[in-house]
Amino acid sequence: AKSQGQGRIAWFTRALGNDAKERSTLLQGLHKAFDLNRLFLVYQPKVDIQSEQVVGLEALVRWRDENGHMVPPDRFIPVAEQSGLIVALGLWVLRTALQTLAQLAQAGHGQIQMGVNVSVVQLEHPGFLAELKAILQASQLAPEQLELEVTESVAILGLDRVSALLESIRELGVGIAIDDFGTGFSSLSYIDRLPAHRLKIDRAFIENLDSEHRGARIARIIIPLGHQLGMKVVAEGVETREQIKVLQELGCDEVQGYFYARPMPYDELLTWLAKARA
Ligand code: C2E
Ligand code: CA
Ligand code: CA
Ligand code: CA
Repeated sequence: AKSQGQGRIAWFTRALGNDAKERSTLLQGLHKAFDLNRLFLVYQPKVDIQSEQVVGLEALVRWRDENGHMVPPDRFIPVAEQSGLIVALGLWVLRTALQTLAQLAQAGHGQIQMGVNVSVVQLEHPGFLAELKAILQASQLAPEQLELEVTESVAILGLDRVSALLESIRELGVGIAIDDFGTGFSSLSYIDRLPAHRLKIDRAFIENLDSEHRGARIARIIIPLGHQLGMKVVAEGVETREQIKVLQELGCDEVQGYFYARPMPYDELLTWLAKARA
């Protein structure tokens, strides 16, 4: 039994070792890609559920590694967060997203709004607010065009700190969305105190919506909750007409998902917008 236990421990250590090694390889590659400007952004439209007009975009970061394989952000963002690289990377995302807004304005799409994902590690960084201010000023765009998407994980900063921080962001004129709502661990008192404009229902609750309204129970609760708290409610991961129909009936405001468009690089986005707005 003893040797079996040791075997298990050896296996466990090895597994951990590989994991750590894999992470450090991933981080090295990410550093290099970032330094060599190999990361890029794609943009997914957000659509008003009634008018079907485009109301905004969400910027999502992409990394194609040296072998041409896409590394999903769900894999490299956590590594960037653990290492602190997310601070610089996140500022690059903000700058790039705002540059895109300026380019879009020149292309005749002036009023579009842009959501940018911001990790709690970035928010926690002491220079964040000043950097955000500087980037906005340099861009000369209306701050209202920018919206930061934060998840419920901001709760770990503590209610007072996070509400003060988000309040200062809001004072700049920048919007705030609570992302992946319903999957985190924040309490309703947080949601009540966070000065957010939008509530994004996580894809997990949208997946199984259908005409029999099976699976609609959570959406049925979250949509009026968001409205009560003065927020617009966005459904993420909408893939079918059926889901849109149910969401319309439930009073959802906006939708985002493959049904309308996948996240697209800038050139493709321009073509898509030209068609959508024709
Ligand atoms: P998220 O912010 O919840 O982004 C939505 C994710 O859902 C995106 O995955 C998007 O491509 C995907 N998606 C959109 N519509 C559909 C649909 O109809 N069906 C399905 N199955 N998926 C859909 P992506 O781009 O892989 O990003 C994953 C996560 O990585 C994001 O989740 C976000 O948490 C994080 N992330 C991405 N870019 C950034 C960034 O610039 N900064 C930070 N901090 N996090 C980022
Ligand atoms: Ca998001
Ligand atoms: Ca989300
Ligand atoms: Ca997510």
